[in-house]
Amino acid sequence: MIDLRSDTVTKPSPAMREAIARAEVGDDVFGEDPTVNLLQEKGATLLGKEAALFVVSGTMGNQVSIKAQTQPGDEVIVEADSHVFNYEAGAPAILSGVQLHPVAGRHGVFTAEQAETALRPANVHHPKTRLIVVENTHNRAGGTIWPIEAIRSLRELADRHGLLMHLDGARLWNASAATGIPLKTYSEYFDSVTVCFSKGLGAPVGSLVAGSREFVRAAHRFRKVFGGGMRQAGILAAAALYAMENNVGRLCEDHQKAKRLAESVRELPGIEVDMEAVQTNMVFINLTRPSWTGAAAEEALKVKGVLVIATGLRRLRAVTHLDVDMKEIVTAADVFKEVFRAF
Ligand SMILES: *Cc1c(COP(=O)(O)O)cnc(C)c1O
Repeated sequence: MIDLRSDTVTKPSPAMREAIARAEVGDDVFGEDPTVNLLQEKGATLLGKEAALFVVSGTMGNQVSIKAQTQPGDEVIVEADSHVFNYEAGAPAILSGVQLHPVAGRHGVFTAEQAETALRPANVHHPKTRLIVVENTHNRAGGTIWPIEAIRSLRELADRHGLLMHLDGARLWNASAATGIPLKTYSEYFDSVTVCFSKGLGAPVGSLVAGSREFVRAAHRFRKVFGGGMRQAGILAAAALYAMENNVGRLCEDHQKAKRLAESVRELPGIEVDMEAVQTNMVFINLTRPSWTGAAAEEALKVKGVLVIATGLRRLRAVTHLDVDMKEIVTAADVFKEVFRAF
């Protein structure tokens, strides 16, 4: 099977498993796991923040960030297709009691003016706008990158109105690899930032959330509240450290593979690919014939050995990652041709 469902399907390599086996560990709830502590220090430096906290998932990173920076009844501005709004099981309502205010962006990017329109005037009728969440790269929009100027304008708006900003950087590594802009340049505009090791970086588990010392102290407490305190987590942190050292430099290869796949399938009959959105390691494929559904296409591709995900009624997502090479991408493209010519 050529598995293009997600970059989360990657398995720890033999070398990563060796790093896991060698890891020094301790009880991290006591703050005594040296490998977790090292990861948090290195992560904070890389992201240009005072401190960082190892958490079990990107969802937990986003949720402790929202919890630490809002009060119940506050409003959080999010992009309409964002992970926080669509794929975190309603957690902001359950855990923080906040209301989300979705703004529809283009390729996942909304403008400062759109955010300004969404701000609530100080008036007894309205919730209080407190936080803006940016997703970079933006998953559902196609793995698209937020231009740094758009982020800067949003920060200026946030500063003018006393708002906080959180960066859902599950795939910030991909944005940085594609643009050459360092992670810390992106994160400097945000009060809190989440990055994941379990996506394109190939680690089995784990994310970091970073910010000021005060923010991380609050996030640490809420990690415990949410049941995310871990003991000998150094075996997981070791995989994350290995991933940061060995699997970041190669992300551009995943982007080349996505481009190759997109170019190979875009002209097939009944298929449309927005090439402008193919910026990193994802390809979204729209099916243009009313009789075709994403679910049926997903099944037809699966029978021929290619796994993708139907993310909409007539939409498929294919994601490239370190466990598929260019040869397999060429094979996958041939399968697409075979399936869609006969579909
Ligand atoms: C994957 C992802 C997350 C986190 O997902 P988990 O499965 O909880 O680790 C957060 N944001 C985005 C944009 C993602 O793609």
